[in-house]
Amino acid sequence: MPRSSMLERGSEPGLKLPEQPMKTDDHDTIAAISSPLGGGGIGIIRMSGPEAHAILKKVFRPKKNRRIFSSHRLYLGFLFDPRSGTDVDEVFAVFMDAPGTYTKEKMAEIYCHGGLASQREILTIMMGNGARMAEPGEFTRRAFLNGRIDLAQAESVLDIIESEGADELKSALAITKGELSARINSLSAEIGSLSAEVEASIDFADEELDLEPGEWLGRIRSIREALSTLIASFYEGRAIKQGLEVLIVGRTNVGKSSLLNALVMRDRAIVTPLHGTTRDLLEETIHVKGVKFRLVDTAGLRRPKDPIEKEGIDRVKRRIPEADIILWVIDASEEYTPEDEGVFEAIRGRRGVAVLNKTDLPRLLDEGRMASRGFARVRVSATDGSGLEALKGELYRLYADHGTGGHGLLVTNVRHRDVLARTDKALERAEASIEAGDPVEFTAYEMRDALSCLGEITGETCTEDLLDQIFSRFCIGK
Ligand code: GDP
Repeated sequence: MPRSSMLERGSEPGLKLPEQPMKTDDHDTIAAISSPLGGGGIGIIRMSGPEAHAILKKVFRPKKNRRIFSSHRLYLGFLFDPRSGTDVDEVFAVFMDAPGTYTKEKMAEIYCHGGLASQREILTIMMGNGARMAEPGEFTRRAFLNGRIDLAQAESVLDIIESEGADELKSALAITKGELSARINSLSAEIGSLSAEVEASIDFADEELDLEPGEWLGRIRSIREALSTLIASFYEGRAIKQGLEVLIVGRTNVGKSSLLNALVMRDRAIVTPLHGTTRDLLEETIHVKGVKFRLVDTAGLRRPKDPIEKEGIDRVKRRIPEADIILWVIDASEEYTPEDEGVFEAIRGRRGVAVLNKTDLPRLLDEGRMASRGFARVRVSATDGSGLEALKGELYRLYADHGTGGHGLLVTNVRHRDVLARTDKALERAEASIEAGDPVEFTAYEMRDALSCLGEITGETCTEDLLDQIFSRFCIGK
């Protein structure tokens, strides 16, 4: 059954209904260019809706004369403008019967040459023959409304498109395959059956049912434990999605900017023998074994010589508590100074690596004097590149030590994390009401709230506003 009509019916117990019935919009046929605009080898134009096949038949002339097209097969031919009879491009066309399509509706796709003119012209012809331009994410929205995928899966489609690293892609694909939804559905089922028992004890209050508040408590606690595991995975999920922030700190002139340039393999930061040249924070991304690290070069920490440098140094200090990893750079060709010690004081207790730089020069640093509790040491030269692979390995180790190494089910989406946290809060209140010996109605109310809240992840319960918010982030054509 399509999700939209399920929500409109609204007979499911415990479901929070949208304020207004959801519009299905599935009476019209939508079209869009699905490949990125600009010169590519191939461009893809897509249509979905009841007229998709009729429209394509009007504007496509197969090379081998035929009037019947099989579903999901490619046909070579010409796309033409039926008004003038002029051919626009030589294309492959495919007709796809419902419901075995992305949207569960009739769909058609054209693979044309990837030039701007050809793609635009074809889209214009589709629109002149009964299609309307799709809204951002409308194909995926239809896939959701028609019940082919749930909301978490729909959102993960965008995550797949936006993935930059291999681990990010892997975790997005796991959600597309329904792994998160399965976990949420099983938790919902547990909350639902417990909630039903609590409700039943209200309905049959006169019949002296054996109430089992102790058992209810145990069940609520185990559901809350499962929720906390998912919430805790958000740190790793976020690391995979947004990258870990690696703050490069040290006194002036130890080679922080040179190290950033060497790690990203280009001249991003200005390097000079003058002290205090980096005054603002510069950010660059690298990937190590599929994990994204955001390297942030900072102003050297020393007693500031002017207000701009002071502001730069204040910014670094404010950023230190937020950074995921600290790279503490020390000049190995000089003695260890009180300024180095001062930098260490500012980062003490954080996770990080001590990077002994300039090892291509004669060494003056006495490592025995260095304070570096909790920091592994890596010897590098930003100038000749030695030690950089070991440093990247160390970054990866710090990431991998912290989480499941990308092997568990990860929550990567802030919305999902917030929903899980709200569900947990409702269950916490249910637990408290049982412990306080409140009337069972209170517990039942909180359980219903938890159930309806958790349903927002998969879209069992959601408002049209939420859908608008989610799908407006998509591009047109997806
Ligand atoms: P920052 O102030 O800490 O960002 O330091 P810079 O990256 O601007 O470097 C300061 C000076 O040290 C520049 O003259 C660099 O060329 C030099 N330098 C940086 N790294 C190395 C290195 O590994 N070996 C050598 N020999 N010189 C380096």
